[in-house]
Amino acid sequence: MSVDRRTLLKGLAVAGAGAAAGVATPASATTTAQAPPDAVGMLYDATRCIGCRACVTACKQANDLPGGLYDPPNDLSGDTKNIIKRLKEDGEESYMKAQCMHCIDPGCASACMIGAFKKRELGIITWDGSRCIGCRYCQVACPYGIPKFQWATAVPKIVKCELCHHIIVDENGDYREGALPGCCKACPKEAVIFGRYTDLLADAQQRIAAHPDQYWPKGDPVVFGEHDGGGTQVLYLASMDFEALGLPNLGEESTAKFARNVQHGVYKGFIAPVALYGILGAVMWRNRRTNAASEEE
Ligand code: SF4
Ligand code: SF4
Ligand code: SF4
Repeated sequence: MSVDRRTLLKGLAVAGAGAAAGVATPASATTTAQAPPDAVGMLYDATRCIGCRACVTACKQANDLPGGLYDPPNDLSGDTKNIIKRLKEDGEESYMKAQCMHCIDPGCASACMIGAFKKRELGIITWDGSRCIGCRYCQVACPYGIPKFQWATAVPKIVKCELCHHIIVDENGDYREGALPGCCKACPKEAVIFGRYTDLLADAQQRIAAHPDQYWPKGDPVVFGEHDGGGTQVLYLASMDFEALGLPNLGEESTAKFARNVQHGVYKGFIAPVALYGILGAVMWRNRRTNAASEEE
């Protein structure tokens, strides 16, 4: 039997009270990051989704973003943090929800040299506009193609799902009891649910055990995100091939770990990464100013 939303939230409130500040166990060049003890996330079960897109509209409302009600977006963009697609393969069809995966070891944060992207309370990955220099390394480093840039605005932002951090986290950095991300609150089928990461994973495994022929790969199903790309705090269950649904086959190592290995190699070659990042940062800062000046002209 699967865990209901009330049970998940109850577990989350208890865990939140005693949990340490939400940062992943630090990973070195060679070790693997672990989810923080108070990590939260979402579980999307594509077999329950009816494609109503209530989550898309709710996401727009929760994040004060334009559009969505009569013109559902087809892709993530500078004003869309969450989409629902209908996909087909080999005669099978499925809905698919896409938003930030809240990676346990996030490539975006690893690539962001000045800490605009950060893994914060409850393991949520957020973006800080006051730090961002617009280099868009985060876009390159994200294996899921999630961060989007607001090309059309005078003061562009990087846009991605922040797990409704502004709604679910209080001023002390703790979970705000009973609070839900917009998409999870709006879903009429509980196709996407919010909860403590470990509870969501257990719930997904219970669903698989109860219906092994319903989930992908049929007969021996897996939870996407349990290990993929070093693990993600957003987990997926589906009835068809995850790759056909747009979830890449990344293996079990995170792209951030791969990047650290490269950096470690550079360091061993006597080029201090800090100095290297400093030079890159200065170049990008100059480029940004040059671009801004030519846009003004
Ligand atoms: S999905 Fe992309 S943007 Fe989201 S945490 Fe992972 S690397 Fe960062
Ligand atoms: S958690 Fe919030 S920002 Fe992320 S997809 Fe759901 S509603 Fe949108
Ligand atoms: S609100 Fe729920 S059922 Fe409707 S499209 Fe979103 S995830 Fe699917």
